[in-house]
Amino acid sequence: MATAPLLHVNQLKMHFDAGRKKTVKAVDGVTFHIYEGETFGLVGESGCGKSTLGRVLMRLYHPTAGKITYRGTDLHDVSEKDHFTLNRKLQMIFQDPYASLNPRLTVREIIMEPMEIHQLYNTHKARLQIADELLESVGLHPAFGSRYPHEFSGGQRQRIGIARALSLHPEFIVADEPISALDVSVQAQVVNLLKRIQKEKGLTFLFIAHDLSMVKHISDRIGVMYLGHMMEITESGALYREPLHPYTKALLSSIPIPDPELEDKRERIILKGELPSPVNPPSGCVFRTRCPEAMPECKESRPMLEEVETGRFVACHLYRKERGPFKEKSKIDV
Ligand code: SF4
Repeated sequence: MATAPLLHVNQLKMHFDAGRKKTVKAVDGVTFHIYEGETFGLVGESGCGKSTLGRVLMRLYHPTAGKITYRGTDLHDVSEKDHFTLNRKLQMIFQDPYASLNPRLTVREIIMEPMEIHQLYNTHKARLQIADELLESVGLHPAFGSRYPHEFSGGQRQRIGIARALSLHPEFIVADEPISALDVSVQAQVVNLLKRIQKEKGLTFLFIAHDLSMVKHISDRIGVMYLGHMMEITESGALYREPLHPYTKALLSSIPIPDPELEDKRERIILKGELPSPVNPPSGCVFRTRCPEAMPECKESRPMLEEVETGRFVACHLYRKERGPFKEKSKIDV
């Protein structure tokens, strides 16, 4: 169960120099928080900035502006000692399990390596034992520990990546599209494994995915990103029952329904055009060039992410127009 916010992201910007005086605005003023013990699903098309945001949270990039606090500590302004501790507490699971595993090491060595770097456990024998326990906890027989990554399937490699991430007893894990590269039949197994591990170890997850079907069964709350901005944040059930933002509605309408009769009847929202370049985003609402509901005022000013109901945040002029002004105190503020 979610308790207090573990992590606050406040007006975060991550811009990259693209040369010729151009700037890629990968993340452009994002504010949200993640509660301790929850899974926060972060969804959006490729190029919306979600993976960049995950990497800033992991401190792989230093933000251009804004602040991230973790248990009250500024993640990008820490002492050397805190830096080392945070590296242990914050772990990442990558999209491509094969590329993220060292092909020259055995699986057991891969899992033991972080423990050796962080000098966890006193002896080699103790680390070996922990590595075998971790293999078992992710559903792999310890006898597999002497094999190399290429001897495993995609799903098994992802399990190895999860065991490695767990080896340092993390508190917070960024899972960057951990099931996108896997067969559909294996995706559910990995999601179930992550859910079980989260429950057993009391972990907090940021689960990044490119469509809403992938985060449905694991997320407590979901944030929908588009072109470097957060469009909607809400509790998972509410988002699937009643999406409020036009972009969320379009994303949901693209999820296939397993029942052929329902699938035939339902209305699809087809977004026109491609995702605009983050080098030159549209004025006003960044979604306006593809939004089926766009109005003249959408070109003039960018809608702020505002709390429209308790725990529901939306950035859209249309919502404000139809339902009236939001209360001043409801503007998102971390
Ligand atoms: Fe569409 Fe306008 Fe709302 Fe943006 S602000 S999502 S363009 S209606």
